[in-house]
Amino acid sequence: DYSVVLTNVTKIFDNEFTAVDNVSLKIEQGEFFSLLGPSGCGKTTILRMIAGFEDPTSGSIMLNGKNIIGTPPNEREVNTVFQNYALFPHLNVFENIAFSLRLRKEKEEEIRQKVMNMIDLTRLNGHVEKMPSQLSGGQKQRVAIARALVGKPTVLLLDEPLAALDAKLRQHMLVELDTIHDEVGITFIYVTHDQSEAMSISDHVAVMNEGEIIQYGTPFEVYESPVNAFVANFIGETNFFTGTVEKVEEEYFMLDTGRFGKIWFYKDMEVKIGQVIQVSLRPEKVKVTKEKPITPQGIKINILEGTVDETIYLGSQTKYTIAVGNHYLQAFKQHVRYLLDEVIITWKDRVYVWWFADDS
Ligand code: ADP
Ligand code: MG
Repeated sequence: DYSVVLTNVTKIFDNEFTAVDNVSLKIEQGEFFSLLGPSGCGKTTILRMIAGFEDPTSGSIMLNGKNIIGTPPNEREVNTVFQNYALFPHLNVFENIAFSLRLRKEKEEEIRQKVMNMIDLTRLNGHVEKMPSQLSGGQKQRVAIARALVGKPTVLLLDEPLAALDAKLRQHMLVELDTIHDEVGITFIYVTHDQSEAMSISDHVAVMNEGEIIQYGTPFEVYESPVNAFVANFIGETNFFTGTVEKVEEEYFMLDTGRFGKIWFYKDMEVKIGQVIQVSLRPEKVKVTKEKPITPQGIKINILEGTVDETIYLGSQTKYTIAVGNHYLQAFKQHVRYLLDEVIITWKDRVYVWWFADDS
């Protein structure tokens, strides 16, 4: 069952600017879904159309099987958590969370029950009486989440909710969001420009650029099988190779720059002899050694020779930039010692750079 279905949704502002361009999306009941893309690509506009603050110029939006175009925001079973929290400064934590229930004139006893459930869920116990000005950024965000969930929406929209928090706290809040999502079991639609956030927590992601959805899939699919250079580059880091197809073997493609298996190509890419194509190779798949690797029978690898141009120590791993001819290749190497005689690789060393033609 789908929770939210967008079909050919387009939003044109002022009759001239297309902010959302023919977007179709099916978001499953109860999933953690992320819209991921650079700033200005149309993510917030999509959320605003689902919430009802904005109408599409064309296309349809279904919520729980019903067309909701024309339904006012407060009648949609949807609520939003904003980046800037948007708490009421003159109300304490309890009253901020209780606000929508009071508007609906619910009974005092029920309000108390529901608000205290949310306080437990978002671990705000001990802060019930505090005013927003007395809370940390993380606590304010929890109040915003509690307030959005208290009315029992079937879909929670989160628009870059962690963007104002520092990196460590963001990590922590992500884990909490995941827990909250598991506990409430409703659909979360999460908007971010931060690929690592979306990758770590989502069931599915849609990668957007300039109003369009470029790729939809699981985090694994979009990372391992990007459909084009934009996705390959936006999700993580990558090396690009451009070359002419010289030979198409059963499962390998010989380019003038080396042998590549199908897994290195963009998803669904057509390949013909003589064609100039590009492939994307993740830095963690590139091995760097001082010794030339010995190729066991039947295993196809690509080997290039180069010079270490730069090393960046990253704690758990080192990022190498290797000059190969006039090309620069990035490689990540984990700081794990597998061999007793493993040699340390440093700046200006001559090295072999290699990768499996058909495997990670
Ligand atoms: P994102 O959330 O991905 O950063 P937005 O959905 O906020 O992107 O905006 C997408 C594009 O639409 C931007 O270029 C933005 O300037 C434009 N836009 C957003 N809202 C309006 C509006 N009300 N009027 C005109 N242009 C708008
Ligand atoms: Mg936005």
